[in-house]
Amino acid sequence: MSDWEDEYDAGGVAISKPLTLPVKNAPVQSWRPPSLRGARSREATSFGAKFGNVREGEQWTNWRDRDVESNICDGEAGKNNSYSRPRAGPTGCRSSGDGSGSSPETLHVENSLVGRIIGRGGAKIRELEESSGASIKINRGAHDAEVLIFGSCDAQLKAKDMIEDLVHGNSVRGPGYRNGNSDAGYQGDSCWPASAVRAVAAAAPTPVPIDWTALRENRDKYEAIKWQDLPTLKKDFYIEAKSVAARSAEEVKIWRKENNNIFVDDLKDEDKRTIPNPVCTFEEAFVHYPGIMENIVRVGFQKPTPIQSQAWPIILKGIDLIGIAQTGTGKTLAYLLPGFIHMDEQPVPRDRRDGPGMLVLTPTRELALQIEAECNKYSYKGFKSICIYGGGDRKAQIKVVTSGVDIVIATPGRLNDLQMNELINLRSITYLVLDEADRMLDMGFEPQIMKIILDIRPDRQTVMTSATWPTGVRRLAKSYLKEPMMVYVGTLDLAAVNTVHQTVLFVQEEEKKDYVFDFIHRMEPQDKVLIFVGKKIKADDLSSDLCLQGVAVQSLHGDREQSDREEALQDFRDGRVRILVATDLASRGLDVHDITHVFNYDFPRNVEEYVHRVGRTGRAGRSGASVTLVTREDWKVASELITILERSGQDVPEELVLMAERYEKHQREKEMFAPRGRGGGQRGRFRGGSERRF
Ligand code: AMP
Repeated sequence: MSDWEDEYDAGGVAISKPLTLPVKNAPVQSWRPPSLRGARSREATSFGAKFGNVREGEQWTNWRDRDVESNICDGEAGKNNSYSRPRAGPTGCRSSGDGSGSSPETLHVENSLVGRIIGRGGAKIRELEESSGASIKINRGAHDAEVLIFGSCDAQLKAKDMIEDLVHGNSVRGPGYRNGNSDAGYQGDSCWPASAVRAVAAAAPTPVPIDWTALRENRDKYEAIKWQDLPTLKKDFYIEAKSVAARSAEEVKIWRKENNNIFVDDLKDEDKRTIPNPVCTFEEAFVHYPGIMENIVRVGFQKPTPIQSQAWPIILKGIDLIGIAQTGTGKTLAYLLPGFIHMDEQPVPRDRRDGPGMLVLTPTRELALQIEAECNKYSYKGFKSICIYGGGDRKAQIKVVTSGVDIVIATPGRLNDLQMNELINLRSITYLVLDEADRMLDMGFEPQIMKIILDIRPDRQTVMTSATWPTGVRRLAKSYLKEPMMVYVGTLDLAAVNTVHQTVLFVQEEEKKDYVFDFIHRMEPQDKVLIFVGKKIKADDLSSDLCLQGVAVQSLHGDREQSDREEALQDFRDGRVRILVATDLASRGLDVHDITHVFNYDFPRNVEEYVHRVGRTGRAGRSGASVTLVTREDWKVASELITILERSGQDVPEELVLMAERYEKHQREKEMFAPRGRGGGQRGRFRGGSERRF
């Protein structure tokens, strides 16, 4: 999988890369306070800046060129202005070459520290000169001073040593110092005596480089211990029907093309496997599992949906699966039915297991309840399921969990809460589903998902569904699925719902209510409409307006009590109300079969959400219709909306094309006349642009 990010290993654990430790004596490139950034090379090369930037003779010429107030303590220093950069001799002394050491040794010292060298009334400098035999001159600059040491090599070095001691107190030099490596061994800012530091350094154990391989092996060992007492796991239950095996590659290719252009890929990096042929009837998948067949016959389905045809053989073979498919394509049954078989066929009988076998993680309560309903509808061998979601009765959920269930359908937040409080055992889970993964990520559930999965055995089977395939979902897949196969229906980007007739109307904001009332008054008795609004308050506002007009309506949004949300959905499902006003809470995965219309009162945040909303109608092969009100404020999405409409074979209104063009032009002009720098003169030039959109 070339486009997977590689900071996670196959087990889903972030790979810790060795830290790049700063190398001693490496060039100083690390952080510096802003005040020093960009300043002319003032960083200390040998000494800590704290005590003054004492440098060796480097940048001598630069220093001479500086615009400084040259405070010459000793009148002779002026004549040194013509010195070129001295060459370091083999001893570190800047020798003239004849051993006389007539080229001066140069140190740079902060002005505030120069007093230490000069001493009261010049006493210190005299003492220095006497004991070293060198002659010392100091040139003061604006911030620091040049200390020039004249004399023989030995005298220069001795004086330099003494000056550095004075400036740095107990500075410490390593043995390399005298060998011409003047940087070696310096402990620039140390306040300890050199001998003490050397002793401690000698006693300290040599730092051992971190052995990442060993750490990884240890982690693997720990993982093995953590999971060692688990019962063996069985994953492959697929017996390929003769009719399926007999399908030629060409036949399979044609079938895939004709079934929503389904595409299958093996995401294993090496040794790619043969992708199983699709099953075209329920029997081809489940003839060996009569309990499943009975259920299918009972509900009266004619044939598998495309995602089911291709997903069932893969999942039944025990391979992890990523299913990317548009809403309403039968994704839930695609993972539920093989999951039932997986649980039933485990070597350890159900009554001897100490927790649930299947976990479905899903983003919203509504979806969780819907999946639970689907589980119960196809109830297989009496498997017990429980729905765990925030806002539901926590105590009741705990009671059911602890009394023993087979299938847990949960939103990540509440499940993580129970997990942290050790109220649920996830070690028994062998079949994990991450449903609507993109939505879970959008809702910020990644940390909870991570924690939950840490407690689930790594050799489990994992199925992930998602409507889209953005980077975050890829990362999730890379982290938590092992060598999966991927099935996607339609294109990888947004798949528009082909079965929905989509109408786009151009209105003013203040006309919207008239449009929706008009629509409602024209509704036929069998019609059922889901009206999407952008804000919770708008949902309340519109539904109460409709109520006041005597229209039976329900509303669904995140600020309503959970019981009210459930009641609203149930009323709508059962047909007690035929109008539901909702926010995007209801845009994804919500499965109410007989919604005939979706009415987009407000355009959604993005076209992705548009596709999800529209997908609430035209479910499971039925046809549906959508009406979308577009105002001038929505011109940003015009171009993407055109793509969606074109891709799903819809008429594209001329007005939408013009709108997209106007927006594009506006963008071009904005870029062309974008203010350059602060307070640019063009600012506001196109402020009136919005007025010119239509
Ligand atoms: P989903 O995409 O899982 O939300 O499914 C949408 C609806 O399609 C659900 O109500 C399913 O019961 C229904 N469904 C699932 N599989 C089939 C099938 N093979 N034929 C007809 N309807 C199906």
